[in-house]
Amino acid sequence: MPISLNRNKVRNELVKRIEEISAQDVFQCYQCGNCSSGCPVIDYMDISPNQVMRLAQLGEAEMILNSETIWICATCLQCSSRCPKGIDVAKVMEAVRSINLRNRDGIVKPDREDIEDIDELPPIALVSVFRKKTG
Ligand code: SF4
Ligand code: SF4
Repeated sequence: MPISLNRNKVRNELVKRIEEISAQDVFQCYQCGNCSSGCPVIDYMDISPNQVMRLAQLGEAEMILNSETIWICATCLQCSSRCPKGIDVAKVMEAVRSINLRNRDGIVKPDREDIEDIDELPPIALVSVFRKKTG
């Protein structure tokens, strides 16, 4: 007999919040790995995009919330465009970032000194970093 996951049991408040903000159903993910295989910054992540989805399915949203991955994500939308189930994975990442920022009173002040080679970066890269860190 196949083992089925009881969605309502693991869909705790945090997972519900992620789904609400992202407007995505994390249980649609069937772990094909397409999102992760196309992610250009996966080497810098501590949890891959498909693992983010799996952890959410298991109710382990705190692990996602505290991961480096949500900040490394460049919102390039590659994962979202590759998902055969039509899940907007980038929106899930964004939702977790938003929850994290709200938990810290909404603001993480990006420090100019922490950005390497700031004079070499294109302005759009800086805008992207500041937007991500301030919600
Ligand atoms: S949106 Fe984020 S997680 Fe998705 S492929 Fe781009 S960098 Fe990776
Ligand atoms: S591509 Fe979609 S279905 Fe496949 S692992 Fe990623 S989120 Fe899940």
